[in-house]
Parts: sequence; structure tokens; C-alpha cells
Amino acid sequence: MKREFAVIGLGRFGGSICRELSMEGMEVLAIDNNEDRINEFKNIASHAVIADSTDEASLKELGIKNIDHVIVAIGDDIQASILTTVILTDLGIKKITVKAQNDYHEKILNKIGANQVVHPERDMGKRIAHNIISNNILDYLELSDDHSIVEVKVGNKMLGRTLADLDIRANYGCNVVAVKQGKDINVSPSADHSFSEGDVLIVIGADKDISRFEKHLVIED
Ligand code: ATP
Repeated sequence: MKREFAVIGLGRFGGSICRELSMEGMEVLAIDNNEDRINEFKNIASHAVIADSTDEASLKELGIKNIDHVIVAIGDDIQASILTTVILTDLGIKKITVKAQNDYHEKILNKIGANQVVHPERDMGKRIAHNIISNNILDYLELSDDHSIVEVKVGNKMLGRTLADLDIRANYGCNVVAVKQGKDINVSPSADHSFSEGDVLIVIGADKDISRFEKHLVIED
């Protein structure tokens, strides 16, 4: 069965979510109060409708109550984003994802019942900053305020050495959960895994521990 989504606000962020969900074959109701944006998405989303999401009656009329997951991607107008989220919570929408514009906005959204608050500019900024620090840091995903998962290229200092030998868990307090080599992925690599050129490690841990691990073993001087 196709899952139903609604995307409110078709700027760059909401538009990209709408495109991707539609390409994956999902039913998407696209909502925006700007006619040009709606015209742009008419042939992309299953339904594209001009509506002001701060108007409860309009949302009810669109049958928003029957949608599994609503994504609120109104950025600049924080008041409209908050009001829309309150209306969706009141209507009992099970899953509400909202894009936050700043930390204060994020706090309010969490308080009023958004299930997931995303902060794409901040998160992407962090990922890019880590990649700028070292070309060996390929990706960075924040799990909480102080824990992350990173994808790193094996450092020269690690080549030919085993997981047991480097004892990353004991020495740095973080865990290597997988090692990729091209398309092959070795989940939970054994202690005798010997690192070779082209290995990509997926490491989970506290940010301070990951940072020590990166400084000592991954980032080249
Ligand atoms: P992005 O940062 O994702 O590129 P943007 O800067 O292009 O977004 P925003 O002002 O953040 O645009 O708004 C995103 C979309 O939300 C716009 O297309 C805008 O028309 C729409 N929008 C704003 N307020 C409402 C509202 N009350 N109801 C419906 N759509 C709205």
C-alpha cells in the first residue's frame, strides 16, 4: 500500500522532499499558498493545491486528517510554521516533521508537539565543516547533542594494522560498526580485520571521542 504524505511549503527544502517522495512512488499532497509554486509541482506530486496552511478550515477540507505524515517546510514565516504545526497537532496528525529556522523556533516546535524537527542548514553546515577539516571525513551524522556517526576513509597510520591492534574502543571510546570496501560492507568487523587502502569506516561515539580518534588516526598532518 502506498503511504500518504503532505508537504506544506514548496521552497527549496520542501520542494526537494516532495520531488524525492514522488519519485519513490509515494502519494504526496503538495500545499503552498503561492500559485507559481503549485504550478511547478502539478506534474510532480499526486495532488498540488493552493492553500494557506494557517487556515484550519482549508486544511480540513483537503482531508489532511487522513494523511500519515505531514512535513511542514515553511521557513521564513516562523509564525505561520508554528501555527500550522499547532493546527496539525490539534487535528491529531500522527507524524509531523517541521523544518526549524533557528534554535528558538526548534524549541517551540518540540514543545507544541512536532514529532521531528529538522534543521537542514545547520546540519549540512556541520557535515561540510567536518569534510573541510579533512578530505578523509566523508560524512557526519549527528545522533544527539553530543553523539554522532561518522564515515571516514582509513588513515595511513591504520594501514596494515588490525582492529584488535588499534583497539579503537579502549583507546578512543568509540566503536567501528562497519567497514566498507567498494560495494562490500562488513557489518561488525571482527577484531582481526586488517585495514587496507580504500577501507571506509563507519564509527559511532561521543563527539569528543570521535574527534580524538580522527585527530590521531584519520587526519593526515
Ligand atoms: P527554502 O529555505 O526551503 O528554500 P524559501 O526561502 O524558498 O524556502 P520560505 O519562505 O521558507 O521559502 O517558504 C517556503 C514555502 O512555504 C514558500 O513556497 C511559501 O510560499 C510557502 N508558504 C509560506 N507560508 C505559507 C502558508 N501559510 N501556507 C502555505 N504555504 C506557505
